[in-house]
Amino acid sequence: MDEFRLIEQFFRRDSRSSEVVVGIGDDGAVVKADTDKNLVLVTDTLVEGVHFPEGTTPHDLGFKLLAVNLSDIAAMGATPRWFLLNLVLPDANESWLEGFSTGLFSLATEFGVELIGGDTARGPLCVSATVGGQVQSGTALRRNGAQAGDQVWVSGTLGDAAIGLDLVHGVLGASDNDRGYLVGRLNRPKPRVELGLALGAIATAGIDISDGLLADLGHILKESGTLGASVDTSCLPLSPQAIGACGESLARQKALTGGDDYEICFTANPAQRLPIEQLKDKCNINLTCIGSVRSHAGIALTGTDNHDLTGIWAGYRHEWS
Ligand code: ADP
Ligand code: MG
Repeated sequence: MDEFRLIEQFFRRDSRSSEVVVGIGDDGAVVKADTDKNLVLVTDTLVEGVHFPEGTTPHDLGFKLLAVNLSDIAAMGATPRWFLLNLVLPDANESWLEGFSTGLFSLATEFGVELIGGDTARGPLCVSATVGGQVQSGTALRRNGAQAGDQVWVSGTLGDAAIGLDLVHGVLGASDNDRGYLVGRLNRPKPRVELGLALGAIATAGIDISDGLLADLGHILKESGTLGASVDTSCLPLSPQAIGACGESLARQKALTGGDDYEICFTANPAQRLPIEQLKDKCNINLTCIGSVRSHAGIALTGTDNHDLTGIWAGYRHEWS
């Protein structure tokens, strides 16, 4: 199969949106620009063995690729609209492509994002997407607005995906039910788009947790001007499945440092507590206050283990020797 048949068969769909003037099939895509809104652009790449374990099903991979990009859109408080898809594939296996495109489009349909183009090449497995979204001018959720005295909040539960990865690698064991849930959290993260949109008017700063809570909260604090935070580790939201698989103490460690949960961490003035509580019902999501922002640098952990983790854990980063 050549690249053109591959695109026709698996990725070209009828356009659903009148905003897309030219979609797949030309040298570039053309979309209508909304003059009173700003464009938000995000891109993310998944490399086998680095971002997903070998043996990840094509369905999960297609789903996760779009999910991690939509999570960035969510963390900007934007509405996702279109995306470009870059595929580097070792071969054109039809059942692999069927699974990948099914996973990808299941999420694209759910969030109303349209595939408008991309690129396809032969090589070692690597997939990448670029999503365009829209935000009302001046309402994007940034990393740099946190202030001393703000409360620190997180959505959902933390540490599940990192425990899921340990299960896939055979480092931990769990019951079939817990395993299904935790590996599902690793492979099919839920982008918190509705939450991100609502937070635009409530939060002072926000980020999606892809590299671990301490690392990503650290990005907010640094971008907001060398601030610090205290985090009450007894408040960290842990799923019963996470505790079941590895016990509370290790689950808490995973919640602090494990990546891939794609929950949102945000800061807000304490006066916003009520509107935030109301968001739980509106977005049908767990929101937990885990600490507060302070004026001196470093993240102090209180609650269960009293130690200061300043500089101990920088989160996942790619390095070249
Ligand atoms: P060009 O030669 O101009 O780079 P291509 O031959 O790579 O164009 O692509 C032809 C058309 O197919 C373009 O509209 C491109 O955006 C689209 N396309 C290529 N790969 C993909 C893909 N993986 N998913 C969606 N659209 C794609
Ligand atoms: Mg090309």
